[in-house]
Amino acid sequence: MFTPDDLDFDRQHIWHPYTSMRDPLPCYPVVAAQGCQLQLADGRELVDGMSSWWAAIHGYNHPRLNQALQQQMAQMSHVMFGGITHPAAVALSRQLVAMTPEALECVFLADSGSIAVEVAMKMALQYWLGRGERRQTFLTLKRGYHGDTFAAMAVCDPENSMHSLWRGYLPEHLFAAAPQCGFTDTWDDADFSDFARLAEQHHRDIAAVILEPIVQGAGGMRFYHPRYLQQVRALCDRYGLLLIADEIATGFGRSGKLFACEHAGVTPDILCLGKALTGGMMTLAATLTTREVADTISRSAAGCFMHGPTFMGNPLACAVAAESLAMVAEGEWQTQVAAIEQQLQRELLPLQLHPAVAQARVLGAIGVIETHQPVNMAALQQFFVERGVWIRPFGRLIYLMPPYLISAQALSQLTRAIRDALDHAGHFQP
Ligand SMILES: *Cc1c(COP(=O)(O)O)cnc(C)c1O
Repeated sequence: MFTPDDLDFDRQHIWHPYTSMRDPLPCYPVVAAQGCQLQLADGRELVDGMSSWWAAIHGYNHPRLNQALQQQMAQMSHVMFGGITHPAAVALSRQLVAMTPEALECVFLADSGSIAVEVAMKMALQYWLGRGERRQTFLTLKRGYHGDTFAAMAVCDPENSMHSLWRGYLPEHLFAAAPQCGFTDTWDDADFSDFARLAEQHHRDIAAVILEPIVQGAGGMRFYHPRYLQQVRALCDRYGLLLIADEIATGFGRSGKLFACEHAGVTPDILCLGKALTGGMMTLAATLTTREVADTISRSAAGCFMHGPTFMGNPLACAVAAESLAMVAEGEWQTQVAAIEQQLQRELLPLQLHPAVAQARVLGAIGVIETHQPVNMAALQQFFVERGVWIRPFGRLIYLMPPYLISAQALSQLTRAIRDALDHAGHFQP
């Protein structure tokens, strides 16, 4: 049951992501979800184009994930991770070590993506302390997104995340110009010159490079050239800098490879995973690193890595993640993501010719329409719901990242809704 009164209470008392408490945009009550469908309180069904922000790769209410959760719950829902270990954490970490590049063998289980980034950055700081140096600067890319906690926010795009609001409070890091060469463009060495200049000037102060490999997500849904990432790795090697790959959005097949780093054949020193890790069932993230980084951290004056959240290694989350990764390892996602990519190419790329569209782009199971004008969120969201689809645009971006098991028919419903939405001037800000 969900009453108008509940909706009113929500509006009065509950914060939603990035919303005003004074004048919030409307929220749509969802009471159930199954496969690729979200069910609204009034009984309407929406085809899900968002995977709940990259997470629900296997769709909703999946019997295998539900069963893993129930089995774990019957054994033990939670136990502290200090001085205690448990089968679910070991099973999950074994899988993570096996499916990521060979050099990454030490796993830190964190409670959300932002925390996985905090952990990665803290690892880099402590790594340098272990080497007897105090290095506190990070080199990153404009248009990046790494989370909403303060250390993560300090390496997000300075404009999108309004660094001006936090001046004097956020540490100041180095931002290279965002890559301009797209994934399939002809590579131009000039694209790397700003990054190379910053690395050359500041490498003695830089603790690590942190970036989203290939796909810049929430900062603009941009797909950049694999050569850029290869050159980052080469410079990190030349100057002895750590490379942190934030694959929280891209991990587990979304970009068409298991991990986006594979597009460039690059191995990071520290890898952040989250979002799809539990198949979207609950919050869990992980930060993996090499034996060398882990050993060096342990040589720092602290003698240990200084992090340990209360719900670290939560057994319910670990058990569900282990089952989700077992499904990923079975490999069906490869044909599913390839089919989604081809269909998105057929159905979205032609929209490039629409006068409202600046660019259409597709990579793996991600389809993006960048418009000339920012969207009118409330109007466009309502239009999509009336068309029976769940698509959540932001800024000048209307994009799709559906669950991998979506049918061709349901995916067409999503792309048709986008196509039709473009024809209404009222869906865009003047
Ligand atoms: C979503 C995201 C995060 C933050 O994860 P949360 O679970 O929302 O804290 C960090 N980095 C990237 C690339 C993300 O997409």
